[in-house]
Amino acid sequence: MTLLFTSTPERAEAWTRLFADAGEAMVVGEDAVTDPTAITHIACWQPPKNLSRYPNLKAVISIGAGVDQMQPLPPGVALSRTIAPGIEEMVRDWVVMAALMLHREMPRYLEQAACGQWAPLTARPARTRCIGIMGLGRIGRAAAQSLAALGFPVTGWSRSGAPVEGTEVFAQEALPEFLARTDLLICLLPLTAVTRGVLNAELFARLPQGAGLIHAGRGAQLDMNALRDALNSRHLSAAMLDVTVPEPLPADHWAWADPRVIVTPHVASHTDAEEGARHALAVIRAGGAGQPIPGLVDPGRGY
Ligand code: NDP
Repeated sequence: MTLLFTSTPERAEAWTRLFADAGEAMVVGEDAVTDPTAITHIACWQPPKNLSRYPNLKAVISIGAGVDQMQPLPPGVALSRTIAPGIEEMVRDWVVMAALMLHREMPRYLEQAACGQWAPLTARPARTRCIGIMGLGRIGRAAAQSLAALGFPVTGWSRSGAPVEGTEVFAQEALPEFLARTDLLICLLPLTAVTRGVLNAELFARLPQGAGLIHAGRGAQLDMNALRDALNSRHLSAAMLDVTVPEPLPADHWAWADPRVIVTPHVASHTDAEEGARHALAVIRAGGAGQPIPGLVDPGRGY
């Protein structure tokens, strides 16, 4: 068993140390591979183009929580996404920050501050603003719990509609009912063929007048022009985006200049190198013991 690591040199240092401590073999970079038949796992953001070079490959491990950047893998090669508490906590924190910023009118106060305007707005209690979360996975559930603890009524929408304690869950076909109840919409969906472009004009029209959007899923889920139209018609009041199309967002993009939109450059979380290495070790060990692989992606569902 040897893992081929193709991510950044900064991460390689921590991975090399943890793999040495664990007594597992690891090579950094394809150029260092002397025996391709020894490679059983590849940890990467995107795998090498020619995977047929590695006939004994068992699994590809995405060093991030998402796998939408991955090409289809050869049959029999498993795909695992990194499961790390740090990722979930950081995205949860960004989402809670964004929800509080929109709830407490920060886009408008920042606009007023830019021209030295002291103009108080009426604040509403959290209990009067319903937050709806699209995607109740590891991150969506963590965000739901924290937002509910702040007093917001929290609902969620997922493919299965599986119950989540403390959150009213709507299943896929109940999207219109879910949206009709949502004052602040949070997207924490994985990017799949089904969720691409899901944040569009039709969806925005189903939200109550004045709703806000918080997007930390993937840029390609959002129709940026539809967002601008919904803001211009005042159907949506504001948006906070950690992910955009394209990324990086060009300096002259309308969203940077629009005071109703706050953009952060895809920084809601990053994978801590040690947590990433621990996840890869867990994948290798689980595979060796014939146990379920942590973070295993269902190729049919795409997440
Ligand atoms: P999970 O796989 O744990 O959860 C995904 C959730 O989305 C599940 O609740 C799933 O439903 C739901 N879902 C998937 N497809 C659909 C669909 N077609 N309709 C309705 N619901 C659907 O993912 P995580 O919570 O770990 O992460 C979610 C995403 O967050 C990642 O894929 C990534 O894109 C994004 N992310 C962004 C980061 C950033 O820095 N901005 C950092 C990390 C992640 P069900 O429960 O029924 O399976």
